[in-house]
Amino acid sequence: MGELLKGKVAVVTGASRGIGEATALTLAQAGADVVVTARTGDELAALAERLARMDVAALPVAADLTREEDVARLREATLARFGRADILVNNAGVGKYGPLSALSAADYDWMMNTNMRSSFLCTSAFLPGMLERRQGWVVFVSSVAGLKGLPNESVYCATKFAQMGFAQALDYETREQGVKVSVVAPGGVGTHFAFGTGRTPGDPSLEAMMDAKDVAEAVLFAVTQPPKVRVFLIGMRPMSEPL
Ligand code: NAP
Repeated sequence: MGELLKGKVAVVTGASRGIGEATALTLAQAGADVVVTARTGDELAALAERLARMDVAALPVAADLTREEDVARLREATLARFGRADILVNNAGVGKYGPLSALSAADYDWMMNTNMRSSFLCTSAFLPGMLERRQGWVVFVSSVAGLKGLPNESVYCATKFAQMGFAQALDYETREQGVKVSVVAPGGVGTHFAFGTGRTPGDPSLEAMMDAKDVAEAVLFAVTQPPKVRVFLIGMRPMSEPL
């Protein structure tokens, strides 16, 4: 176990698989205690066992992060076990691609609530403690879709631009009080998410995508800068991106 984050408590959302799971493991590798949350309790419990074997404390909390009461329970469980959260990684997210005509209001609510509302609720839950202690890190896993509009991703782009605006405003709002806000904006990552975007397991295009671990390393970079440094935006693209 590393020492970089020893003594720090990190909350990672969307940690049952993909980028969130890799981020929880990477922050634990650097010594952080980790609260892992998503809806799927079984996967979280298995991850918490792996984390505990890495000699850090781990707390799995099954929660639907679009629900205010679930986020309140996440906050209470975190404070009861660790007394605080130093790092929040807003990673939980979903996407459905397709032309606008193929997207319903239910699709819009699902994406906006999972991607933006969960970011709002979780940040609102943990930011006050960070401001009180005048130290904290809030990281958003946005996307290249939060930096430029892309065809067949209109609603997904809207949710990721929303996270970006929220993060930019918070960066100004909280910086002088010691809280560092960062956005990691990856292009294609080979996770379960890709299957919701028209690909199937075994699709050769998955091979060329970045790995979840690559994004996790960027999160670690964002939360381990020297005291005088903040990294607001980390844009990541696969080498295979067309010119
Ligand atoms: P993933 O493997 O599908 O993981 C998504 C995570 O979000 C899962 O742990 C899922 O857990 C959780 N989640 C979904 N709905 C939730 C809810 N209502 N409440 C709590 N947790 C919920 O996808 P991923 O690629 O790791 O995506 C992670 C983040 O990266 C997302 O924000 C995505 O937009 C962003 N991103 C992905 C890519 C990519 O190409 N993969 C590229 C750029 C950005 P449960 O289902 O157990 O709840």
